[in-house]
Amino acid sequence: MKTAIKLTLAIGTMISMTAPAYSAQWGYGEGDGPATWGNISATCEQGQNQSPVDIETNTLTSAKKQPLAFDYQGQVKDIINNGHTIQVNVSGKNTLRIDDQDFELKQFHFHTPSENTINGKSAPLEAHFVHANEKGQLAVVAVMYREGERESAQLDSIVNTLPAKAQTITLEKEVNLGNLLPRVKDYYRYNGSLTTPPCSEGVRWLVLRDPQFIPKNQLKRLSSTMGENARPTQALNARLIIE
Ligand SMILES: [Zn+2]
Repeated sequence: MKTAIKLTLAIGTMISMTAPAYSAQWGYGEGDGPATWGNISATCEQGQNQSPVDIETNTLTSAKKQPLAFDYQGQVKDIINNGHTIQVNVSGKNTLRIDDQDFELKQFHFHTPSENTINGKSAPLEAHFVHANEKGQLAVVAVMYREGERESAQLDSIVNTLPAKAQTITLEKEVNLGNLLPRVKDYYRYNGSLTTPPCSEGVRWLVLRDPQFIPKNQLKRLSSTMGENARPTQALNARLIIE
């Protein structure tokens, strides 16, 4: 008997039961939360350039920044629940040009509440668009979401098809990636790290200043699917945040 299990849903999506790489080694709970991540990778505990951070808007360093040049032409492909976050894989050509280099969008994913904070305040949701250049260096564009009805339609197809733990959903409906970003792309910039083990440093962080909006019911669906998955803010140490 063939055991390939595939369910086609009325909304034109497909759930495949092939489990993505699922790690139970770390999490956000009492026994496996951020305070214990140093046991997995020393950088999480000893790194001096860790993310997320609190962006205090009265202590920023003003500098002439290049505008973020996005060229997102592709589509959403798969939505994966890897047990830590809801991760969206993409297809097509999706690049961000910064520092005179092209960074290719690898995936984006969500945190509830936000990881980076602004003046000590979390947003209810933060999306991380993870890009890599040819050398494998990372640039993460962070988008904050506030609760509200405006400009929310872009996330509908994703939030309406959230996979359960260790499931992958292939979206057949087209979701244009360019529509997920705010129109105004002014940003804060700092040098940081992955916010999950191994907490590797050397990551360019570009936190968009303007939030997007998401309706309350969608916010609830995301947070109840993922649980709280935000690492606390880390010390800035010698770093500056550029505005
Ligand atoms: Zn993230």
